[in-house]
Amino acid sequence: MKDYEKLQKMIDESDNIVFFGGAGVSTESGIKDFRSKDGLYNMDFEYPAEVMLSNYMFFTNTEKFYEFYKKYMNSLEYKPNITHNYLKKLEDNGKLKAIITQNIDGLHQKAGSKNVLEVHGTTYTNHCLDCGKEYDAEYVFNSDGIPKCECGGIIKPDVVLYGEMLPECFIEAQEFIRNADLLIVAGTSLTVNPAAGLVGLFRGKHLVIINNDKTPYDSKAELVINDKLSNIFNKLKA
Ligand code: ZN
Repeated sequence: MKDYEKLQKMIDESDNIVFFGGAGVSTESGIKDFRSKDGLYNMDFEYPAEVMLSNYMFFTNTEKFYEFYKKYMNSLEYKPNITHNYLKKLEDNGKLKAIITQNIDGLHQKAGSKNVLEVHGTTYTNHCLDCGKEYDAEYVFNSDGIPKCECGGIIKPDVVLYGEMLPECFIEAQEFIRNADLLIVAGTSLTVNPAAGLVGLFRGKHLVIINNDKTPYDSKAELVINDKLSNIFNKLKA
């Protein structure tokens, strides 16, 4: 039996599936993996990317923060790929209970998925720090300089910046993983905590890891597939 056939069997037999995805889910849409060899985290800036995208930079040098943010975090032009679209079908069938993602690009929502838990937040919604009014990504990425609310307040992306607490959905994500009977982990090297640690909470039947490279959780998985995600999700039926 081929690997994708084994996974298909697990999907067919399960009605409580949770998907946990990382950067690799979006790379096939053309979005760069920030942690890859030529990714953002290995590029030369005035400060490391972790500092440019920190809560500290946002509040001490908002202009510099936004210069960087608008240049590198804008995913408005990108489209969902085979993986996003497959997961949307699996949710429609009632089998997939939640998508937990480390990505902030909103591509699962673009594919039509409903229950998406964005543990690192999202670029798709933004809020005024003064009055709380919500603004979309177009407004922020197309603004000149620092995006301002109609009340005059500064708008902040709903992205979890370095130095910030995890969002409330992180607790919900833990619950979904604890209760799942099939957990599909894909496109993440599982090295960035605390998100990566979520996998350790899984107590269900089948743990499947699909990633180009090895992960620290491979030995705990029933099935490890080292391949491009599209090669697998292309062959699966929802
Ligand atoms: Zn406002």
